[in-house]
Amino acid sequence: MLEQLRNAIRDVEDFPKEGIVFKDITPILGDGALFRASIDLLCETAGGAKVDKVVGIDARGFIFAAAVADRLGAGFVPVRKKGKLPWRCNEEAYALEYGEAIVEIHEDAVKPGETILLVDDLLATGGTAAAAVKLLDGLGADIVAVSFLIELSFLGGRGKLPADKVKAILHY
Ligand code: AMP
Repeated sequence: MLEQLRNAIRDVEDFPKEGIVFKDITPILGDGALFRASIDLLCETAGGAKVDKVVGIDARGFIFAAAVADRLGAGFVPVRKKGKLPWRCNEEAYALEYGEAIVEIHEDAVKPGETILLVDDLLATGGTAAAAVKLLDGLGADIVAVSFLIELSFLGGRGKLPADKVKAILHY
C-alpha cells in the first residue's frame, strides 16, 4: 500500500513558484481505497495512545486531520493562517523563504493536559509545524505525535520538531 500511495502522488514542477516541486496529494484524496489507507496509516502513528484532539494545519492538513479525528473518536482543532479564526486566538510567527507568516489557534481550543495528535500533509522546512507545536505547548497540550503523510527528508524539517514525536508515512 505504501508503494501505491507513493505512486499516486503527483510531482508538479515550478508550482506555486519556480524551483518548487509540489507534491500533489489530490490523486490520493480522489481514490477511496488510497484515501482510507492514508487515514489508517496516520491513525497508527498515535501508537494506540489515547488522543483527545487531532489538530490539523491549514489547509490540506484539515482534510487528513478531520478524517483521523473521526476515526479515533477525537475532536478536531484547526490551526489557521492569521485572520481566519473568529474567536480569541494565540498566534505564532515563523520564517518563510521570503518574509514571515503567522498561524493562529483559538485560545480555548485545547485544555492543559489534553492529548494531541498534530497532523499535516507534508513536512518541508518544518517552520509551519514548529509554529503549531509552539501554539500547542503554549496551551499546555500533551503532544502524542506530530504526523505527516509526506516528509521531504532532504530539507531537514524534522530538526525543528520534537525528534521522538515526528512520524511520516512516505519519505523523499
Ligand atoms: P514547511 O513549513 O516548509 O514545512 O512547509 C509545510 C507546509 O507547506 C505544509 O502545510 C505543506 O502543505 C506545504 N508545502 C511545502 N512544500 C511543499 C511541497 N513541495 N509540496 C506540497 N506542499 C508543500
